Amino acid sequence: MNTEPLVLIAKRLMCCPTAPYYEAGVRAEAERICSEHGLDYAQDAYGNLIVRWQKVSRRRPLVLAAHLDHPGFHIVGSISPGQVRATFKGGVSEEYLRTGVPLRLMPGNYRAVLGKRLSSEKEFEIRFDTTVEPAPAFGVWDVEEFALRAGKIHGRVCDDLIGVAAILATLIELKQARAKVNVIGFLSRAEEVGFHGALAAAQSKQLPKNALIISLETSRELPPVKMGAGVIIRVGDRTSIFDSAATRFLTETAAELQKTVKAFAFQRALMSGGTCEATAFQEFGYQTAAVCVALGNYHNCASGKRIAAEFVSVTDALQMVKLLVAASRQMQHYDCLVARLPKRLMQLARVARTSLRKSS
Ligand SMILES: [Zn+2]
Repeated sequence: MNTEPLVLIAKRLMCCPTAPYYEAGVRAEAERICSEHGLDYAQDAYGNLIVRWQKVSRRRPLVLAAHLDHPGFHIVGSISPGQVRATFKGGVSEEYLRTGVPLRLMPGNYRAVLGKRLSSEKEFEIRFDTTVEPAPAFGVWDVEEFALRAGKIHGRVCDDLIGVAAILATLIELKQARAKVNVIGFLSRAEEVGFHGALAAAQSKQLPKNALIISLETSRELPPVKMGAGVIIRVGDRTSIFDSAATRFLTETAAELQKTVKAFAFQRALMSGGTCEATAFQEFGYQTAAVCVALGNYHNCASGKRIAAEFVSVTDALQMVKLLVAASRQMQHYDCLVARLPKRLMQLARVARTSLRKSS
């Protein structure tokens, strides 16, 4: 068994069923993990969870953001005993939402199957044994919650509980080292239905305006990135390009890390498979960058139109934590790291002008 804190935390989180607006169970587990490690945490007015390691609070804060929810079903009404009406919340295309797909209903974790479609909206019938209680509130896919196989974490919800686990592992490592940093973890609700938690927080200006926000995601594996080839510095998503200087800060931090940690690897790419919370924060005026790891079976969509567990590479996820710990520590050198490129370009410009003049 892999005993890396990240893996252990991921396992605990991923065993908690979650769906948009039904994040209470996984949030409670995240709170327990914070308590066990003496990390301060609090819920905001919208139920997002904010975790802090602010050893040097005068320093510019680094906010690490990830979401607690995952696509799932909301039970919206009863049809007859053992039959309910449900709407699917999240991005999964129609052909995967097929009659007979096994589900689990919550609370109670009892078995059910997806029935026929009831309307052109993503509204379905769900069928289950009539003897069960309590009445269901939400439903999730009946696939394995967590497994470690051949260097990969498989589970119902890698998106985005791997991101949440990476934030908690980063904060725990920084706290254990008594690192003189100012880092806030922002664990949001209802991302899969349009970043509700992040938008509410951004609009109400509850995060410090001068913060650098890094959005953490698992993102559909698309060329040129490769699963297992390292954490991805995400320059943009389907909708936006993120802040160039902040992205450079991450790239410089990663390049520094590579000099001292041989096995550290990173990739840099536009991940256009979806829109992430970085776009939401950026539109509200925050300086924003993003990192992610490559995700297999994005939103549980596997080959052959099957619903299956998602998966990520363990080493990619561990490297995400390494990069975030390093970025937290490097925040005090932000200006210096970001100024490296213009400095290099100024020097090059001087050389270029001399050489060009001589040969004109
Ligand atoms: Zn997602």
